Amino acid sequence: MENTGVKNKEAEDFKYVKKNYFEYASDEINKDIYKFAEEYKFFINECKTEREANDYIVKQAIKEGFTEYSFGDKLKRGDKKFIVNRGKSVVLFKIGENNIENDGIRIIASHIDAPRIDLKQVPLYERDGLCFLKTHYYGGIKKYQWTAMPLALHGVVVLKNGKKVNISIGEKEDDPVFYINDLLPHLGVKQMQLNAREVINAEQLNIVVGGFPLNNKDEKEKLKANVLKILNKKYGMVEEDFISSELSVVPAFKAKDVGFDRALIGGYGHDDRVCAFPSLEGIFDVKNKNTCMCVLVDKEEIGSEGNTGMKSMFYEDIITEICIALNANVRKVRQKSMCISADVTSAYDSNFADVFEKNNSAILSCGVCMNKYTGAAGKSGASDASAETVGKIREIFAKNNVFWQTAELGKVDIGGGGTVAKFIAQLNIDTVDIGVPVISMHAPYELISKADLYSAYTAYKAFLE
Ligand code: MN
Ligand code: MN
Repeated sequence: MENTGVKNKEAEDFKYVKKNYFEYASDEINKDIYKFAEEYKFFINECKTEREANDYIVKQAIKEGFTEYSFGDKLKRGDKKFIVNRGKSVVLFKIGENNIENDGIRIIASHIDAPRIDLKQVPLYERDGLCFLKTHYYGGIKKYQWTAMPLALHGVVVLKNGKKVNISIGEKEDDPVFYINDLLPHLGVKQMQLNAREVINAEQLNIVVGGFPLNNKDEKEKLKANVLKILNKKYGMVEEDFISSELSVVPAFKAKDVGFDRALIGGYGHDDRVCAFPSLEGIFDVKNKNTCMCVLVDKEEIGSEGNTGMKSMFYEDIITEICIALNANVRKVRQKSMCISADVTSAYDSNFADVFEKNNSAILSCGVCMNKYTGAAGKSGASDASAETVGKIREIFAKNNVFWQTAELGKVDIGGGGTVAKFIAQLNIDTVDIGVPVISMHAPYELISKADLYSAYTAYKAFLE
């Protein structure tokens, strides 16, 4: 065909084409994209566990004029409230001017836990010149990725007298770090033939924490005794106190710009703090028209279990309490509410092209990504948002010039994954997954695009408004 005139141009407009946000954005927006990334890096460097994220969020919320809410408190139009769930999860909400029986509540839910390595409750032992801590990993990790690099220890210990001690070692420049051994290649011939699951097995994920003996010739375990002496001096703890502790090992790296052009960010725990941060900034910046809520939960990485995970009654109770306080019918409110499950999705990676179906993959820097459904093999475990819900979101995004894309997680029958979406959907709330695409998800150092991060912020803010 030689004529490439008006008709063909129109035909182009009918196509769904993904575009690069950096390329499409004005110089001014690109400046905002890079500026927002700086604030985000500060956040993830400060918050490596759900407890640290919780504390940071509460501090920011207070700065933004939010006050603490307890079940049963009175609420009125214009209120900005937060409620903490056991120091590991926090919910912020604003009471708007609208009638929530008609409009429902706009909800964004993300999680602030991330894959990592937890200590066992009887962790400390010494063997042949090294003192170690035994671990049980948390969430879906490739175990071999966590060896031979600097690690930091974060968490809390509750002492016998009930006193809670916070621990964070390995983040400051002059802090010591911790370490998991790997085998030298010279002796790794057999190891290199193993299945990747067994290259490092779970009981080999032992953390090196010492190597200097206590000066006492009657002591049998001198390295362990010395570590215990240090722990007692620093934290007032004894070995038995590990039983009532939650201590986690995470990468000791800081988040950094990646690339000559600094377009990307490498960091630990983008999943899911890369959605938690823009949803938090979204609720801070939104005008008070709709009643809206920002839910930041724990335990997503192990199935949303327990009283701080999305399956807990805590989150449903907040909605119920708001309805009681505003004299609204909770069933009507939930039916009219909408929720964005703000969790990451996999970005398409040309290095592993065979696991993706490109038309339905998230392309890096093409914006925050909607997954109509998650799950695996025949949509199993998916809540699958309705066409109407997706349509409504499209309308909101179009009105607010949100740059976004759509995808599903990999080829059909290759694998899959889930989010908190289905636990919110089962409350009779229209819910859809919209989050930032990630490269090397669940690795100790994950990669995201600054454009997608900023696009998530604009999307969440538009939705809450
Ligand atoms: Mn996630
Ligand atoms: Mn995850």
